[in-house]
Amino acid sequence: MRVKCVLCEQMDTIDDESLLAKRLRNRPIHTYMCEQCHERIAEKTKARLATGKFRIYRSSESHDEW
Ligand SMILES: [Zn+2]
Repeated sequence: MRVKCVLCEQMDTIDDESLLAKRLRNRPIHTYMCEQCHERIAEKTKARLATGKFRIYRSSESHDEW
């Protein structure tokens, strides 16, 4: 099925039989994220957890964040 990344709006084709495709079909509200964006966010999350500076609220200095 064709899917669109919510972050960079890149169009992707995923396997109809994949777990992700089934999830998206059952719950259209569930958003798709392409591999690159997924990895970028995973990296940031990991970095944050590693430094122990995870913030829930965005501050004015966080303009460089996704
Ligand atoms: Zn993306």
